[in-house]
Amino acid sequence: MVIGAGLAGCATAASLAARGWRVSLLERHAAVACEASGNPQGVLYLKLSAHGTALSQLIVAGFGHTRRLLEHLQRGADWDACGVLQLAFDDKEAARQTKLATAFTADLLHAVGREQAEALAGIVLPAGGLFYPDAGWVHPPALCRQLVQHPLIELRPYQEALSLSRQNDRWCVDGQSGTLVEAPVLVLACAAEIGRLLPAANLPLKRIRGQISRLPANSLSSRLRTVVCAEGYVAPPREGEHTLGASFDFHSDDLTPSVAEHAGNLELLREISTDLAERLDAQTLDPATLEGRAAFRCTSPDYLPIVGPLADAETFAETYAVLAKDARQVPDAPCPWLHGLYINSGHGSRGLITAPLSGELIAAWLESEPLPVPREVAEACHPNRFMLRTLIRGS
Ligand SMILES: Cc1cc2nc3c(=O)[nH]c(=O)nc-3n(C[C@H](O)[C@H](O)[C@H](O)COP(=O)(O)OP(=O)(O)OC[C@H]3O[C@@H](n4cnc5c(N)ncnc54)[C@H](O)[C@@H]3O)c2cc1C
Repeated sequence: MVIGAGLAGCATAASLAARGWRVSLLERHAAVACEASGNPQGVLYLKLSAHGTALSQLIVAGFGHTRRLLEHLQRGADWDACGVLQLAFDDKEAARQTKLATAFTADLLHAVGREQAEALAGIVLPAGGLFYPDAGWVHPPALCRQLVQHPLIELRPYQEALSLSRQNDRWCVDGQSGTLVEAPVLVLACAAEIGRLLPAANLPLKRIRGQISRLPANSLSSRLRTVVCAEGYVAPPREGEHTLGASFDFHSDDLTPSVAEHAGNLELLREISTDLAERLDAQTLDPATLEGRAAFRCTSPDYLPIVGPLADAETFAETYAVLAKDARQVPDAPCPWLHGLYINSGHGSRGLITAPLSGELIAAWLESEPLPVPREVAEACHPNRFMLRTLIRGS
């Protein structure tokens, strides 16, 4: 049983079904991809580090996995490998990019001067930057729909999970009118709502509101040939519209698109390219009349997703209490798992890259297969890391 039919839940269901599991996929809305995964276009944006961090390794592996999945979708309508250009928009970013260009191979990314960047993008730009030739944009709902097209997956819309319990080695999920499903394995892929279903786990998931703006394309703006990113991003048109994003609001709980954030997004567009802003007539566009969409990203404090099996927090603290006194100890006691319970969440602003591979990681944990990422990366994403840190730091 998987709760939540966004990218994380749909990918988990697909990875399990591919291994022969029968999956009930519970979703509170009418269809897949109605929350964070519902934007018209998302970018395959690789925010890498030159130091080979766990996050950077996960991003490279996740990018490859997502790209392979996208080959099943219709190019042009559901996604496009048009390339992504990350502009060197200030000195700090330029220095960061110089290090990246030497740390990775040219087929993944390479530095381009301003003229070359303009030739690739088809518009006038303020700077050169890094070009990711195999990246591009994706219509996330199309990827979610494709992932759940499997005879072993039963999508159950309008089913909101309100509480969880464990009876006779099975997980029971209750909704408003009683038990919705019972199963031996439960994967929580419902973003920050995990906190409500599993308060005792105390997982540090935070919601960050974001808004995209939809800009009607015209013959001049349609010359844009690649995604271009600076602080924001703009994509070549899909179904006659460019997606422009995205705002960050750390405090708002409201999902009504706001005029102020449309205005902020237009500012991001001008920073990307005044030429493209002019082609789109941005100076005459009234933010109050723009169409858009707001949703919550779900993030963790270390920016890594939270993926894998989970222990019972209270018993974990008792079992490994010795670590509070001496963090170098390696206690022999077995981990007090919440048997059959797994998490796939915390994908922040890069779910297109990390959520599908995380579905594979969950399936590999469950089936005791070799993991699809190096062990250190899987451990860096492990849901138990926060309870371990709390124990060691004594906070
Ligand atoms: C404005 C914005 C722009 C973004 N741009 C990009 C981008 O360019 N590139 C990129 O890679 N990522 C981007 N992201 C991030 C990306 O969208 C997310 O990382 C990804 O969608 C997360 O997927 P998810 O499945 O974890 O969450 P969601 O898509 O939010 O799915 C969670 C699902 O769980 C369901 N649910 C919750 N609680 C319950 C319950 N109790 N019972 C039943 N169902 C429940 C919800 O209805 C929802 O369908 C952006 C996000 C936002 C908000």
